[in-house]
Amino acid sequence: ATPTAIMAGMGRGAQNGILVKNGEQLELAGKITTVVFDKTGTLTSGKPHLTDLIAAGGADGSLSQDRILFLAAAAEKRSEHPLAQAIYEAGAARFPEGIPDPATFIAVPGKGVCAFVDGAEVLVGSPLFLAGYGVDVERFDGQSSEQLRHSGKTAVFIAIDRVLEAVAGLQDELREGALEAVTELKKMGLELHMLTGDNRRTAETIAARLGIQHVVAEVLPESKAQVIERLKQKDKVVAMIGDGINDAPAMATADIGIAIGSGTDVAIETGDIVLLKDNLRAIPSAIRLSAKTMTIIK
Ligand code: ADP
Ligand code: MG
Repeated sequence: ATPTAIMAGMGRGAQNGILVKNGEQLELAGKITTVVFDKTGTLTSGKPHLTDLIAAGGADGSLSQDRILFLAAAAEKRSEHPLAQAIYEAGAARFPEGIPDPATFIAVPGKGVCAFVDGAEVLVGSPLFLAGYGVDVERFDGQSSEQLRHSGKTAVFIAIDRVLEAVAGLQDELREGALEAVTELKKMGLELHMLTGDNRRTAETIAARLGIQHVVAEVLPESKAQVIERLKQKDKVVAMIGDGINDAPAMATADIGIAIGSGTDVAIETGDIVLLKDNLRAIPSAIRLSAKTMTIIK
């Protein structure tokens, strides 16, 4: 490839809202067979809202909805996870006098948080995470949580002193241009995957709305890169699009990493291509542009 052709391609990219950081990588972009999308913060805005708080009965039903929200919001106060921020914000709106800091707090990536608030142990996270502490999640993980997931919401479980008290529903909107980008990439004959730590049912609902054929769900942060590795072993040339939250290693493992410009600093550092606008519509042009650059070179 001549440097001039690559430079020309990079210049055209910038006009279209695409920053190509790595000219060498541009050559590979024209050979992409498979595009893997992170779900949260990439296909979706990454700014979920608390829409439901369904009581699970608790030990004796003595805790009010407000009390459960208060404890969960405090437990999530120190977490940077988008779900945590949504729960904290819902609590802060309900309790304008303020949500206290948790006495102790640990966050487990891809699972949830464990904190002490007002002398109570508060667990907020996936059912698997709570089950790991001996919480009986089965008594609730039935119809209501399935209904939340069927509508594309994430179901977050809340336990106080190891007793399941509520299930929260969190809704995250699709990012601008997501449907257009997916539709266009499919027309270009590319194989599309969604990769997420979220529940399978939630992920499938969102994938179906967009028309994404393959869903890899309930993947822990440390395993996301392995999913990319496995696709590469099947001779796929893989582009991974992410926001950098839990997916930077997967972006680095992919043949081409594409970062959402409004994503984390890690994403922008890791990505070979950075989308300068919050809009996913630029992805097909990023891939097309690189193929075009290759034609000029040949
Ligand atoms: P994604 O791949 O969609 O970005 P993550 O890997 O960050 O998702 O998280 C996977 C799941 O773990 C979430 O859907 C949620 O159930 C749970 N989880 C992780 N962190 C938190 C948290 N701070 N509060 C509540 N739930 C959490
Ligand atoms: Mg993400």
